[in-house]
Amino acid sequence: MDFELDEEQQMMIAGIREFVKQECPAGVVRRYDEAGECPLDLYRKLGAAGWLGLPVPKEYGGAGGNFVAVVLVIEQLAQAMPALASLYFSSCVFGSRSLLLYGSEEQKRKYLPAIASGAMFVGLALTESDSGSDAASLRTRAVKDNGGFHLYGSKMFISAAELSDLLLVVARTSTEKKKEQGLTVFAVEKGTPGVETRRLKTLGRRSIPLNEVILDAHVGQDSVVGGINRGWQNLGKTLEGDRSCVGAQYVGNSQSVIGMLVKYLNEREQFGKPLSAFQVLRHRLADMQTAVDSARLMVYRAAWMVDRGLPCRMQASMAKLMASETYVKIASDGVHMMGGFGYTQDCEMEIHFRDSRAATIGGGTSEIHREIIAREILS
Ligand SMILES: Cc1cc2nc3c(=O)[nH]c(=O)nc-3n(C[C@H](O)[C@H](O)[C@H](O)COP(=O)(O)OP(=O)(O)OC[C@H]3O[C@@H](n4cnc5c(N)ncnc54)[C@H](O)[C@@H]3O)c2cc1C
Repeated sequence: MDFELDEEQQMMIAGIREFVKQECPAGVVRRYDEAGECPLDLYRKLGAAGWLGLPVPKEYGGAGGNFVAVVLVIEQLAQAMPALASLYFSSCVFGSRSLLLYGSEEQKRKYLPAIASGAMFVGLALTESDSGSDAASLRTRAVKDNGGFHLYGSKMFISAAELSDLLLVVARTSTEKKKEQGLTVFAVEKGTPGVETRRLKTLGRRSIPLNEVILDAHVGQDSVVGGINRGWQNLGKTLEGDRSCVGAQYVGNSQSVIGMLVKYLNEREQFGKPLSAFQVLRHRLADMQTAVDSARLMVYRAAWMVDRGLPCRMQASMAKLMASETYVKIASDGVHMMGGFGYTQDCEMEIHFRDSRAATIGGGTSEIHREIIAREILS
């Protein structure tokens, strides 16, 4: 067992830290949050600097990095600019791996180099207003039509759909089989007639638009990703490992909250002493770091298993569950430990408080991850 990062990993962390130091100065998170603007400009810069190609194999224009490397990069991005980490996960990890694991050779050649360069941003449209946790019961239909398919239905709570150059839309191609066996993934390119988006107003994550997507669109046969009626099986394969990356975001976010608290507790004085001298606050901070380190180790373990091709459904769910619940608790306690200041918009703690509430919902709720873990333990 080896807990040490090798030289290459250390250099990579130093490199991504340098990038965020240059491109994400103090106040940048607040600026995008207040404007309700997505940092796609920073995302493209990540592409130009070569970071987006990390999960993409060299033959498709990427750097061919392993999953542990990807997790380390996401963690650092999340610490500086949570929205960037989230975009990174959605497109470079989930998008590229979906195409890589079950896309056609033609789709790989067409889309992967664009994902790696940042020219293409990919989103997933799975959830619908009547099917969230029970995603397999979705009702958007794909009916054979004119040499391709006609998609009709609507999707709900889709991250950055309005900005996506490619949406991986999951639709029902058969009603005769079990609900999980009648689903297919379609690659729907931006500008396809009959695809409309509506922006939802949200509590947090205001720099990543959350959309409803209305579909009444024709797509070609070549838009099928991974075979007809194989969507659920393929998605499961991709999401299994990818959840460690979702966890990495929340580890980075939580570490950023702790960083803010350390500074504040050392600087703020009450009763003639810095707050960091009060044992109750010191211990709360110790508990926070302990929880974040537990989540971090779970995330690294799951990523390590992905790299070795080991089944890690339970370990990835554990990592996502632990990291998301830790982030929610730490962001909430963080507001309290900063007193009135933590409640104001003069400090970024309230952004974490708002943003963190999505962590235990998106990417599968805590209840669903507990179910996955329990099922694995009991099987
Ligand atoms: C910020 C954000 C971004 C998102 N981005 C995307 C995206 O890009 N693409 C996409 O497809 N989807 C996305 N989603 C949707 C997300 O995956 C769903 O919101 C999530 O799966 C939960 O579904 P739901 O909202 O319909 O809640 P429901 O499934 O209705 O659940 C409501 C509550 O009931 C609980 N519950 C449900 N079933 C059970 C059960 N069997 N046992 C115990 N408790 C249960 C849930 O845990 C939850 O607390 C996003 C959501 C958010 C909040």
